[in-house]
Amino acid sequence: MAIVSRFAPSPTGRLHLGHAYSAVRAHDLARAAGGRFLLRIEDIDATRSRESFVAGIEEDLRWLGLAWDGPVVRQSARLPLYAAALERLKTMGLVYPCFCTRAEIAASATAPHGSDGPAYPGTCRALSPDEHAARADAPHAWRLDLSAALARVDRPLTWRDTAAGTVMADPAAQGDVVLARKDAPTSYHFAVTIDDAAQGVTDVVRGADLFEATHVHRLLQALLGLPTPIYHHHPLLTGTDGRRLAKRDGAPALAELRAGGADPVALVAALRAGTLPIGAGIAAA
Ligand code: GLU
Repeated sequence: MAIVSRFAPSPTGRLHLGHAYSAVRAHDLARAAGGRFLLRIEDIDATRSRESFVAGIEEDLRWLGLAWDGPVVRQSARLPLYAAALERLKTMGLVYPCFCTRAEIAASATAPHGSDGPAYPGTCRALSPDEHAARADAPHAWRLDLSAALARVDRPLTWRDTAAGTVMADPAAQGDVVLARKDAPTSYHFAVTIDDAAQGVTDVVRGADLFEATHVHRLLQALLGLPTPIYHHHPLLTGTDGRRLAKRDGAPALAELRAGGADPVALVAALRAGTLPIGAGIAAA
């Protein structure tokens, strides 16, 4: 089967070196095998996504010389697909509406912590259908009923990870994750799982920071009857202080490097080699 990989940034800022590293790895994996490399814009967060950042992503990838195949897919254009999948889970009785505010959750949550912060304490899981009906007009998210979901699937659930080998999916630490937000008919977990399957992605290349999220994605695949890609969770780039590179900590945006006269060919070669002779002595973790 031909490899299909993807780069799936959220257009909430300009790309920095960490993004470039991920994009190079996803691109090269597909190209080395004569496969396809897709670009997907994860723009479900309408308050944080900007058109200028979408344009910036495409500009930065072109500057790096990373060509993608086919049209750019935008999650904001696929909301009916996610809504239909949510309806399926509703019919299966595996999701419930949640009326809690962020502050309420933070106040009541205890350990464990999932990849999205403290695991939800399950407050709204106990609401009756009558209470749902009474509050139907109030803003609400939809959460996965984790124990009901786990009871529905054949276990063990596993995935193949080039970094970690065969991994046993254990989504328990993530709790009852949000599948549809108050402000969007999907969430990161839900959209990414549905899109990877819909786009025929065979190999998911992404940072190790999303490793824990894969436990949830594997469960969602089982519930929705979707195939499981191979996962390549790569180390994150770190600065000289050993901390993960992030824009908020001053990681240089690719646009800034370009403006400063950086050579994209040398930059991509350095990323491929795992060395970065530019910036503040940044090295692959
Ligand atoms: N959109 C996510 C991000 O920018 C990445 C999604 C993924 O690769 O699964 O962090």
